[in-house]
Parts: sequence; C-alpha cells; structure tokens
Amino acid sequence: MSPSRRKLVVGNWKMHGTHAANEALLEALKSAGPLPSDVAVCAPHPYLAQAAERLARSAIGWGAQDCSAHEQGAYTGEVSAAMLADFGCRYCLVGHSERRALHAESDQLVADKAQAALARGITPIVCVGETLREREAGETEAVVKRQLSAVIHTLGHCAGEMVVAYEPVWAIGTGRTATPEQAQAVHALLRAQLHAATPRAAQMKLLYGGSVKPDNAGVLFAQPDIDGGLIGGASLKATDFLAICRAGAH
Ligand code: PEP
Repeated sequence: MSPSRRKLVVGNWKMHGTHAANEALLEALKSAGPLPSDVAVCAPHPYLAQAAERLARSAIGWGAQDCSAHEQGAYTGEVSAAMLADFGCRYCLVGHSERRALHAESDQLVADKAQAALARGITPIVCVGETLREREAGETEAVVKRQLSAVIHTLGHCAGEMVVAYEPVWAIGTGRTATPEQAQAVHALLRAQLHAATPRAAQMKLLYGGSVKPDNAGVLFAQPDIDGGLIGGASLKATDFLAICRAGAH
C-alpha cells in the first residue's frame, strides 16, 4: 500500500433503499467505529438529506450518483451540482456505466458533469470501463483512455482533483470480478495517462469497481495502483461493506 494514498471505499446504492432501510444501514456504518479507509456512500437523490443528517459529525462522507452538467434552468428532473453543494455533498459519481449505457451519456457530457461538480467544490468520481465486447476485441486500453482523456481535457489544470473509478462493465453486478492483475494493468495505464496530464497523478485515488466483495477486496486493494473501491451490491449490507472498508488495512 502506498503510504501517501489512504484507501477510499465508496458505496453506490444505485436505485435501492427506503427511509427505514437507510436508517439501519447508516446507523450500522456510524457505530462501526474508526475505519482504516476513507469511506463514503452515494445515495439516491431523495435520500441525500437523510445521509447528510445522519452522517453529520461522522467520518463517513456522502455523495450523489449523478448531477446535471447545467448550472440551473429548465431541465426538469435534473439536479445541479449547486443543489448538491447546498447541503454539503462531498462526492458525485459521474459517467457510471449504467448512465452511459441507459442514458446515452457521451464522454463529453460526463466530462462536463465532472467540471460542474468540481466548480461547486464536489469531488467527481469519474467512472470509466470497457464492455465485454470491447475487452474481447482488445479495445480495453483505447476505450478507457478515450473516456479519461475527455475528462482530462475538460478539467485542464484541475484534473488532479478528481477520483477515477475503473469499472469494467462486464464485472458490474455480474459476480464476475476482474482479476487483481487485470485490474492493476488498467489502473497502471490510467495512472500513466494522469501523470502526463497533472503533477498530482501520484496522489490521485484510482478505485476499482465491479463485484467487489469481502473475500476479494483485500487482494484487489493490495495492488499498487488500486486505491480502494466503488462498491455496488455489497454496499447495501453493512457487514459486507464494513468488511470491504477494513480490507484496505491488510
Ligand atoms: C457499481 O455499481 O458501481 C458496482 C461496481 O456494482 P457491483 O459492486 O454490484 O458490481
């Protein structure tokens, strides 16, 4: 583990949760005591106020799963970065593969969202990753570089402020995890790309996401360029999520 990069573990609740279920989950996370990683949960928009209230004065951060690229205006259904910042949001996922695929989000739109978040002091967690077809066609490197390049170009000298999450699409919610070697190989590529773009590359956090569970988190997080994880399904169960948060210490 690099001493200069404390692990970061972020839960992505996706479109799950109820007021009561979140209450139990947040209480369990809060009462776990000090954790060896930085930890945050990304809740659906209607529950952000609940996360803000419940996690106030706790070391656990919270974030959103998406934001608009626009400042404000006639964009029914959208939530701006300014609104998220208004009540203390620390992180915002942008470009999750489900949004790229289901909402046709382009690389440039993802980059614009990252810029909108940063402009409001919110750390964008920029998700990149190839589909199974792209991996099998040998296009992994080209795809993730293209996705990251759009964000680097748009953020300019602020590129070092983002968190990057490598999430191979074929590993998300499938139970099929990238091997530690496969994940590390892509993380090393991304780190090299960041080095060419920003003097902060060595300090930047690069997360791995895709079927991370308590039994595989330790070996993934032990890779030199993997600085933690973006956790979907396993973040909904406090015992599993906490076990993953502790995996960074091993
Ligand atoms: C995700 O939603 O970002 C994710 C990685 O999901 P899962 O952990 O369920 O594969």
